[in-house]
Amino acid sequence: MDNRLDLKVGYNCNNYCKHCVIGDKRFFIPDRTTRQLKDVLEEEKDNYQEVVFTGGEFTIRKDCFELLSHAASLGYKILIQTNARRFAYSAFCDEFLAAGQGKIMTVTGALLSANSDCHNYLTGADSYRQTVKGLCNLKARGQQVSINTVVTKVNYRTFPDLARFLIRIGVDVYQYAFVHALGSADKNILSILPKKSLVVPFIKMGIDIGRAAGVPVYVEAIPFCLMQGYERNIAENYIPQVKLNDVTNTVADFDYVRKTYEKEKAPSCRKCACFSVCEGPWIQYPRTYGWKEFEPIAPVKAAAKS
Ligand code: SF4
Repeated sequence: MDNRLDLKVGYNCNNYCKHCVIGDKRFFIPDRTTRQLKDVLEEEKDNYQEVVFTGGEFTIRKDCFELLSHAASLGYKILIQTNARRFAYSAFCDEFLAAGQGKIMTVTGALLSANSDCHNYLTGADSYRQTVKGLCNLKARGQQVSINTVVTKVNYRTFPDLARFLIRIGVDVYQYAFVHALGSADKNILSILPKKSLVVPFIKMGIDIGRAAGVPVYVEAIPFCLMQGYERNIAENYIPQVKLNDVTNTVADFDYVRKTYEKEKAPSCRKCACFSVCEGPWIQYPRTYGWKEFEPIAPVKAAAKS
């Protein structure tokens, strides 16, 4: 599996998402300079095959073309995490893809719902039309596009409609990522953190729609016990080894940190057939809703499923 450098360029963004893990950091931590980011790319070029430009919103930086071109020239395969709004402008889209010199593997856009009011409410901005146009512009130019949808109390009922919409506009893969209650998501926890048992049926419907259309679908931060019959769709099975190069710190083995400090399992999980492969939920979840929804899987049942 490929090693990946997750490069956070800064926290500025043109959205104000209620579920954002960055929270208010954009207001007191300045974005990194072009030189700082180029230095990281140069220092890490022999250690990592892939770089993810993330933030904040990478595409609102004036130097995004320059950084892309630099990464491409250094031989990185490139991934982009974005709200996709800037791609609504055709000229921007063309220049961005040209700067990537054919090295942009995937652009991952954040779309929360196919209902514009729902998406705009969660992003705190009138963003829906631009995001959808941006995604369509990318697909029209042959770019591989994936979608990340954060799962909240506000949008989960719209997932079947969203799945049908994503297939219609031709996205290559989509993922449901259960909200991680940090930053703004922590501040808004009462209004956005849903119970997993409520969202799972809608996620399964979204997966079934993808399966029928031959489009891969993944789910992140919902454990195996709630996703029985959908084990192959669990994203944690496939996450590569990642080094996080953040604005103020670096985490050499982010997988270890995520599994050890950011997620947890209940004492009763020790009895579960999936204990060794399961990461458990984000630690904030059981502190809010407890462990009742997480029932250990009996070994014989797990064997029968595989
Ligand atoms: S280890 Fe715990 S959280 Fe994970 S699948 Fe088993 S019961 Fe669920």
